[in-house]
Amino acid sequence: MPPTEKTAPEPPEKALPTGHAPGLKFEKVVKRFGANAVLRELDFAVAPGERVTLIGPSGSGKTTILRLLMTLERPDGGLIWIGDDTLWHMERGGKRVAANQRHLHEMRKQVGMVFQQFNLFPNMSVLRNLTEAPVRVLGLSRDEAVERAKSLLDLVGLADKADAHPTRLSGGQQQRVAIARALAMQPKVLLLDEVTSALDPELVVGVQDLLRDIARESDLTLLCVTHEMRFARDISDRVLMFDQGQIVEQGPPDQIFNAPTEQRTRDFLQAVL
Ligand code: ADP
Repeated sequence: MPPTEKTAPEPPEKALPTGHAPGLKFEKVVKRFGANAVLRELDFAVAPGERVTLIGPSGSGKTTILRLLMTLERPDGGLIWIGDDTLWHMERGGKRVAANQRHLHEMRKQVGMVFQQFNLFPNMSVLRNLTEAPVRVLGLSRDEAVERAKSLLDLVGLADKADAHPTRLSGGQQQRVAIARALAMQPKVLLLDEVTSALDPELVVGVQDLLRDIARESDLTLLCVTHEMRFARDISDRVLMFDQGQIVEQGPPDQIFNAPTEQRTRDFLQAVL
């Protein structure tokens, strides 16, 4: 038997973000990198609390979609809404309409992201990784932030690692810390970008199962990019198949994985399954 990490205990309810989650909407979103048109007038919507997974070949624009929502990239055209509020409203040519930095900052607080490479602060303890942003950005008292952090470490099965430094942890443990850190900001929308790609194979399932439980027990709106089809099936209400910045096909996991209608989806699934 390969070594596995212990499974997280039942999520304590108060650790998870609650309250009404907003939906998302992309309208005619254009994104270019130089001459490379990555998204071409992309339209799609995610319902409040819906869990959607983006699948498709590398380079088809999936991560770019998450980065636009995280304000790590700006679109060249189109509109993106979080709930009823506009995140981006760009004229053709990339001129921003009506959204100032303060607005972006406020919108950005609703969105949490977990990255492939964890991106933890290596010079801070695990606890500090979880308390820094809630104190600085949300204005929580240190005591409140510590209480929230401890409850989240409990949720991800790392209550005993609060004082450890991230570099001392396994990849699976680091990713659990990154998940707890994202949740510490009490986001309404959670973005997962290939969260198990950098993990040793025996650690993958534990992290995926943790995320599946969090997704099921919370009210979060979830957007997930993954090459792991079992995970996509487990975590999603709906799967969007992308190719070249466009949606080729979409539907519930059962339909996409058992009865895809498009040849491109069939070819892709044959290559990855
Ligand atoms: P996926 O997540 O589907 O693999 P990405 O959204 O990462 O696709 O990338 C889509 C395309 O955009 C790729 O061709 C990639 O090389 C390009 N791209 C992404 N980010 C940048 C960047 N910062 N600079 C230049 N090109 C980029």
